Amino acid sequence: MKAHNDFIIPFSSLKSGKNLFSFKLNETFFEAFNWDEFKKCTFNVSLELIKSTTMIDMFFVIEGEFTSLCDRCMYDIDLKVCQDYRQLIKLVESEQEIYNDEIEFLSLKAFEINIAPYIFEYVLLSMPSKKVHTIESCNKESINILDNYLLTENYENDNLDSNNIDSRWDKLKELKNKKEK
Ligand SMILES: [Zn+2]
Repeated sequence: MKAHNDFIIPFSSLKSGKNLFSFKLNETFFEAFNWDEFKKCTFNVSLELIKSTTMIDMFFVIEGEFTSLCDRCMYDIDLKVCQDYRQLIKLVESEQEIYNDEIEFLSLKAFEINIAPYIFEYVLLSMPSKKVHTIESCNKESINILDNYLLTENYENDNLDSNNIDSRWDKLKELKNKKEK
């Protein structure tokens, strides 16, 4: 993984109390995590970090827009997200192997923290479970091809042989190639 140096916060040199940070992300940020679902993206991350002698309390606001593929028609879809998350880190004498959703532990001797993995996780958590256009905006030709193959929304429950699925993707690929020429 490429280093995310801009996302390393040297918290030992921060003042106690509230510290504010902001970050801008684009596709490059996600390449380091081998995540290529965004054809294009811009995310603004703001972080309020509250430091005390034994705690680091972090409030993240993730706001952004991205282009991905529609789950229904497989064409580009533009989506927006805005979510906030909190992470509490307790500084302890000996780093413990205890993790839960609320609190993580870090050695009192630690002096910096890389927040890139947190941001990556939060962006993924903010994704809608279904990425679909409105029915009217889905690509009609693509939907027709899918209909011709009589695929239902929950096709994973259907007893389809793999040849059928393969030819469906081939048809979609043909259609896309034609469009791009
Ligand atoms: Zn669509």
